Amino acid sequence: MQPVILDNLVGELREARAVVVLTGAGVSAESGIPTFRDAMEGLWAKYDPSQLATPEAFDRDSEIVTRWYDWRREKCATAKPNPAHLALARLEEHLATPERGFTLLTQNVDRLHQAAGSRNVVELHGTLWVWRCTRCGIEREERTVPFQEYPPRCACGGARRPAVVWFGEMLPEQALKQAHDALATCDFFFSVGTSAVVEPAANFIYSVRHRGAKTVEINRDATPISRVVDWSLLGKAGEVLPELVRRAFGI
Ligand code: NAD
Ligand code: ZN
Repeated sequence: MQPVILDNLVGELREARAVVVLTGAGVSAESGIPTFRDAMEGLWAKYDPSQLATPEAFDRDSEIVTRWYDWRREKCATAKPNPAHLALARLEEHLATPERGFTLLTQNVDRLHQAAGSRNVVELHGTLWVWRCTRCGIEREERTVPFQEYPPRCACGGARRPAVVWFGEMLPEQALKQAHDALATCDFFFSVGTSAVVEPAANFIYSVRHRGAKTVEINRDATPISRVVDWSLLGKAGEVLPELVRRAFGI
């Protein structure tokens, strides 16, 4: 079934000058990377992500937390960008002109946007491809899957943890600043594949609406912001986004 894209959205999008897109786990779902809600399968069914993705969990049992991340790294290592990632990369290429702008704010830690060719990507929650020493703070890319030890160790002897934002932790300052700069000037905002309940991302929609930017949500299900946005498109990101950019820009 063709996703329903309203003509007035297509017309307005063609006039957009500065587009900001916020993405969440739903955008990677069609690449086979489970959202948190769906991630607790098999071996991990008895756990709750809010008990694994915390600094306290890592302090208590760094081995089990690392093994869970290694399982997720394995899924991400073999995953390929899906039509939603590719459509966003095409949209950026089309809009990245001196007169226009495009910023992708992602809560995803899998780097599939970069793999698809997106360039102006702000990683709000870090990435599971970088690991940070809990003793000396040094960060290093860790692409080898699986790890040889749980947790992997730094040369200084400290345990390394994923450079992701865990429950209860602050977002990286630099990423947050980039996000706020983009949000302060955008005239079009998309929220795609995110449940829109986690702060501060949940707040983005209200700040851009307040400034008069046009707002669109693309999600498989209705969320708390579905009734707040100008256009709520219910459907899979991998179907709706390609159709939208094709209709608007022929790309
Ligand atoms: P979430 O609940 O915000 O994301 C799931 C959302 O995606 C839901 O609203 C769901 O309706 C929607 N969705 C699912 N499939 C979709 C599809 N095909 N098309 C459109 N929408 C779809 O996020 P979460 O899963 O609770 O994760 C919380 C945080 O955990 C993330 O923000 C991220 O930091 C991390 N995480 C990252 C990844 C990743 O990098 N791929 C995966 C899981 C979790
Ligand atoms: Zn160290």
